[in-house]
Amino acid sequence: MTTTYSEFSRNADRVMDQIATACDQVGRPASEVKLLAVTKTHGPWAAEFAARYGLDRVGENRVQEAVDKIPQVDPKLNWELIGHLQSNKARLAATHFERVQSVDSAKLLRRLDQAAGEMGRSLAVLLQVNAGSDPAKYGVELAEAPALLEAALQLPNLQVEGLMTIAPLSDDPAIARQTFANLRQLRDEMADSFGVALPELSMGMSGDLEAAIAEGSTQVRVGTALFGQRPPWQPQT
Ligand SMILES: *Cc1c(COP(=O)(O)O)cnc(C)c1O
Repeated sequence: MTTTYSEFSRNADRVMDQIATACDQVGRPASEVKLLAVTKTHGPWAAEFAARYGLDRVGENRVQEAVDKIPQVDPKLNWELIGHLQSNKARLAATHFERVQSVDSAKLLRRLDQAAGEMGRSLAVLLQVNAGSDPAKYGVELAEAPALLEAALQLPNLQVEGLMTIAPLSDDPAIARQTFANLRQLRDEMADSFGVALPELSMGMSGDLEAAIAEGSTQVRVGTALFGQRPPWQPQT
């Protein structure tokens, strides 16, 4: 685990270089890919390090874990929910997160919209797609994504900014690459047929961010490469 700021800062420099190199290799400007520091399982120090480095956002898997940390760190940080969300926690999530990336059902959409409406705010969301057809992953299936987007676009208090996916765990890098290509292709098709932009493609983590960037990622979600190994009881995604 990363314990000092200088160690974190070296890790972050390395990840920023990795992003820049991956962009360079496919002729994309590095400014197109944002880094989301994933602070799950770590104490508030992890979010504080990210803020001090100049990152503007962090990602958390569990609503309650984030709610506990938020008051303890720099108020300028934006919090994004990237873990599975149960609809009974939708209100709490809409209260504390700038964006929810893990929306994968019409029921959850309705709950988030209602909560955001009651708070008089607009809530940014991404639709989580199981673009690698992995039975172990949450997310709507590729074929069901258009129906979910259609439902999302009806809701007045939600802003659908794009799509999110997690590649299946595999030793074969071609599987992650294909997963990311699937997500981008789905985005292109839906943007076209629904006439909406869907600019954000949240894809790529510590182990597969190059492949994600090559396939058009606009945000990589990185935990381990910044903060070191998580404890073994880390939540599954
Ligand atoms: C934990 C997590 C990450 C970060 O994974 P690392 O391999 O530690 O970089 C990214 N996205 C989601 C959804 C996660 O749950």
